[in-house]
Amino acid sequence: MSILTATRPLDRVADFPAIPDGWAYLDTAATAQKPQPVIDAITRAYDTTYATVHRGVYQRSADMTLAYEAARRTVARFIGAGSENEIVFVRGATEAINLVAQCWAGTQLKAGDRILLSMLEHHSNIVPWQMVAERIGVAIDVLPLTDDHRIDLDAMERIITPAHKLVALAHVSNVLGSVLDARRATEIAHAVGAKILIDGCQSVPRIAVDVAAIGCDFYVFSGHKLYGPTGIGVLWARPDLLEAMPPYQGGGSMIDKVSFKRTTYAPPPGRFEAGTPHIVGALGLAAGINYVESIGLGAIHAHETALVTATREALSGINSVRLYGPADSAGIVSFTIEGVHPHDIGTILDEERVAIRAGHHCAQPLMESLGVDATARASFGVYNGPADVEALVRGIERVTRIFG
Ligand code: PMP
Repeated sequence: MSILTATRPLDRVADFPAIPDGWAYLDTAATAQKPQPVIDAITRAYDTTYATVHRGVYQRSADMTLAYEAARRTVARFIGAGSENEIVFVRGATEAINLVAQCWAGTQLKAGDRILLSMLEHHSNIVPWQMVAERIGVAIDVLPLTDDHRIDLDAMERIITPAHKLVALAHVSNVLGSVLDARRATEIAHAVGAKILIDGCQSVPRIAVDVAAIGCDFYVFSGHKLYGPTGIGVLWARPDLLEAMPPYQGGGSMIDKVSFKRTTYAPPPGRFEAGTPHIVGALGLAAGINYVESIGLGAIHAHETALVTATREALSGINSVRLYGPADSAGIVSFTIEGVHPHDIGTILDEERVAIRAGHHCAQPLMESLGVDATARASFGVYNGPADVEALVRGIERVTRIFG
């Protein structure tokens, strides 16, 4: 269950100084702990190499510009984009989805059009669409889940119509860990002429992603779940779509020429990056990607799958525990214990030095459809091992003893 097949074996103590021995950090779906190479890249960037990008005439700034644009190329290669010009740096997945909602849906959709989401979406893949839908007079339809908690693509085939202009779905659910067949979802969307956005927040740290192979129109993710820093994320879009989209925010860097008579805008991706960007964030994200690639996503996925299987097996032996999500969940296990509020589970586990997430996980419609207010969620990362699963199971056994 260790990352034995990894290109480079993982040294948890050396690689993750923020995880003390004996602390089971099981909240990677919320945010990943940072490997030393990411911390080093950030420190170096603020240290002797720091300067602004894109406008300096001096060498330090020119070098920083090269590093910032190299980070964009790293992201492009990582997700199989055709060119770095298809990569827009944003604050995170939330901003990326709001950008597409305002600049694509907000300009392309008209009253009577429809948007298709699913029951398991994160609030950040629901609310931005509701905001634009309300303004324009667009209706939102919701795909149900299968019995084993996947987005039901057979239902998608039945429900979708040519009135649906946009589909937005999570590649991996942040609550259930269910993996979407993104290629099939894309084919179904495209068959009626709809565009499709895939929310890759939970997929990019866990499974290899190739936007060209998926064939989707938009792909978004946050850097901090991919072992990079907070405050940086990615919008990938097909170049023709980016080209046709108006700017998201106005300011420096996103212009071609400014005058009080008429202002023209820079081509993508600069058009969508108003203001001084999160330079160090981009460099940290690239370091996170390099780190993940040095282990290999195949090895990471196999490792997390083994941890999920061990956890589900152990928890299914405890009568009062109810498990959610499919058996082949990618790195995430949600559960409840009969008669115990998930917050109490989280508090008792914390006493046992096990960190999990308890709550609605920004997925209230999903909670309602599961018939619960909240769940407890354990989510894994590259640094977890069998000892973390054992600590979790021991802690849950204690919870069941305390609550009788
Ligand atoms: N989508 C999913 C599936 C997520 O897990 C998250 C983060 N929990 C988001 C979107 C939003 O990401 P962020 O808060 O980093 O913008």
